[in-house]
Amino acid sequence: MSIFLDPRLNALKPYTPGEQPQEGKFIKLNTNESPYPPSPKVIEALDGKAETLRLYPDPECGELRSAIAQVHDLETEQIIAGNGSDELLAFIFQGFCPKGAAFADITYGFYKVWAQLYDVNAKIVPLREDFTLCLEDYRGLNETIFIANPNAPTGIALDPRDIAALAKEKPERLVVVDEAYVDFGAESCIRFIDELSNLLVVRTFSKSRNLAGGRVAFAAGSREIIADLNRIKYSFNPYNLNRLSQIAGTASVLDTQYFSECCSKIISTRERSAGELRALGFEMTESRTNFLFVRHPRLKGAELYKKLRGRGILVRHFGGERIEDYVRITIGSDKEMDALIEALAAILKEAT
Ligand code: PMP
Repeated sequence: MSIFLDPRLNALKPYTPGEQPQEGKFIKLNTNESPYPPSPKVIEALDGKAETLRLYPDPECGELRSAIAQVHDLETEQIIAGNGSDELLAFIFQGFCPKGAAFADITYGFYKVWAQLYDVNAKIVPLREDFTLCLEDYRGLNETIFIANPNAPTGIALDPRDIAALAKEKPERLVVVDEAYVDFGAESCIRFIDELSNLLVVRTFSKSRNLAGGRVAFAAGSREIIADLNRIKYSFNPYNLNRLSQIAGTASVLDTQYFSECCSKIISTRERSAGELRALGFEMTESRTNFLFVRHPRLKGAELYKKLRGRGILVRHFGGERIEDYVRITIGSDKEMDALIEALAAILKEAT
């Protein structure tokens, strides 16, 4: 650590992103990317656009926001675009948690990092024994509530009507729903936005829109909340989305057919893979996402991770209390999942 860092940041424990090996020798099932390319409409829209990088992008992300609004039946003023949902979530932790933030003990690991970075008091609400999130546990809390729905890394989804009921209970408390994985079989809270002025939904294009490298996301909420988020954005980085990402995001949102086809393929690969993993003796939570959270009674999580890595397959092992035995496996293509199952069968055979 240099002598120049503000001592208030000495204890900051940054988020550790999943491994991103830059050579292609691994089957990558570790960071919940899509195995499929972006929509052909995205590739087409980007053609010849590199030369426009001479100019700054549209700070308002006008076309992208209006396309998102159109698809979700909202007004453009109810949408803010973000450089990945990480950026938007950071804005929310920075500016919307005057009474602290409440979130689960097992959830997206970045929440506690932002709480620390922005000096927000974190109230950790443990998931139940079976990793389900009980909304009753949040009733009466005054902190801004963050719910990943479906949750990560457990994959379990809540009914959006129950989240809406929690928001309704206390209109002066903000409820933030991180819907990074909602398109893989869960239901969105977006439909409650007009009705509930204390509900803010964050969505990403990184998973279900096959654009992790583009860093495109949005938040949807009341005009007032979105205007406030813009106050933060324009005090930090007005040009938060580069030109190519805005073009890619817009073309992607408008190609609803390709989007549904990719999501359906991933869901069917997930269900097939879950069955095959169960047949090998794996136990798992009920996933409504593009990943499976699994453990095996005969193999520790760290060992599973290491042995798969040795066979050229990357999965994510988080470790830590309660989830030490688990690994999170992203749903890849059918071929990648076949390779995974084959590798796991061999690893289990070795272990007997
Ligand atoms: N929320 C959750 C629950 C996630 O798992 C992720 C992906 N790591 C994100 C948000 C951030 O995704 P991105 O910044 O790529 O939009």
